[in-house]
Amino acid sequence: MEKRVILVTGGTGLVGKGIETALESCKEEGEEWIFLSSKDADLSSESSTMALFEKYKPTHVIHLAAIVGGLFANMKANCDFFRLNMKMNTNILEMAQKFNVKKVVSCMSTCIFPDKTTYPIDETMLHNGPPHSSNYGYSYAKRMIDVLNRSYKEQYNCDFTSIIPCNVFGPHDNFNIQNGHVVPGLINKVVEAQKNGTPFEIWGTGSPLRQFIYSIDLGKLIIWVLREYKEVDPIILASDQEVSIKDVAFMIKDAAEFQGEVKFLTDKADGQFKKTASNDKLKCYLPQFQFTPLETAIKESVTWYKENYATARR
Ligand code: NAP
Ligand code: GDP
Repeated sequence: MEKRVILVTGGTGLVGKGIETALESCKEEGEEWIFLSSKDADLSSESSTMALFEKYKPTHVIHLAAIVGGLFANMKANCDFFRLNMKMNTNILEMAQKFNVKKVVSCMSTCIFPDKTTYPIDETMLHNGPPHSSNYGYSYAKRMIDVLNRSYKEQYNCDFTSIIPCNVFGPHDNFNIQNGHVVPGLINKVVEAQKNGTPFEIWGTGSPLRQFIYSIDLGKLIIWVLREYKEVDPIILASDQEVSIKDVAFMIKDAAEFQGEVKFLTDKADGQFKKTASNDKLKCYLPQFQFTPLETAIKESVTWYKENYATARR
């Protein structure tokens, strides 16, 4: 195989670490993987993005870097989520075109689909209506990746594509309670409740439904997309199982062996009720793919958090 230099932007984050772990069992000769942090380059700056491409001369890019946050972080900063993500995405794709990168895989999310829609949502429905009002900044910036991929293909014959993961969690997550997603936020809260003998507080009613994917499963799938997937059209990377926030909170409570009181703070926002995404396209390509059972993945994430308590992001 021709030598490949694969740059992973956002390589130090939850998904980047998931790819790094997944690679341990599927390394291929001729591939050099470079996992980047924001310390290597600020991708919202065109000149530092260009310097990065000059330094590494990548043949392939997995573009994960983004301003990412849970429902509550998005509600506070729609402008920043739009502005900074747009800058990073346009800089990366423009440099990839200028430096003749052979393939780019960028990352969208199931939370950017239209709010008012029929279910299950599939890849063809991405632009069919406005996103949920809580995260429209992030959503529109992410949707523009698909617009850019198609236009770079049409105008410059670039091989750029994108993936659409559902809610991700796992080791190296952002466990910050105010800004993070629901699973790491609840893991942090249950551990503190256990330490302090206080109630375990779940925000909202617990009734919204979500699909979750373990970061290491997602890592395996992204490696497959880079090596095998040929379409410009996005592909949804989501598990089959849809669970309520209440169910997932109780899985976290059980995994942490928390015995105290559980409280639902129903004055906090629920966000989108559901965003059920179809993984039919993925199943067509990879009918044998085995997702880690949710309880197992949650147990491993709780254990990771407890073992890495001193250094975990929060
Ligand atoms: P994360 O853990 O917050 O990591 C974000 C990464 O982006 C970090 O490596 C960070 O670098 C880097 N980054 C942020 N700003 C940057 C900048 N200005 N320049 C260069 N790098 C920058 O996020 P994640 O959860 O792994 O998300 C990865 C991708 O998956 C994102 O595109 C996100 O939209 C998508 N996604 C995530 C979820 C989810 O539930 N988490 C769901 C669907 C899709 P430093 O840490 O070094 O600052
Ligand atoms: P979303 O899936 O894009 O809406 O983002 P999140 O990962 O932040 O999940 C939000 C859902 O989880 C909402 O229904 C929240 O009310 C609920 N939730 C319950 N507890 C928490 C928590 O501690 N943190 C977060 N982020 N959400 C929580």
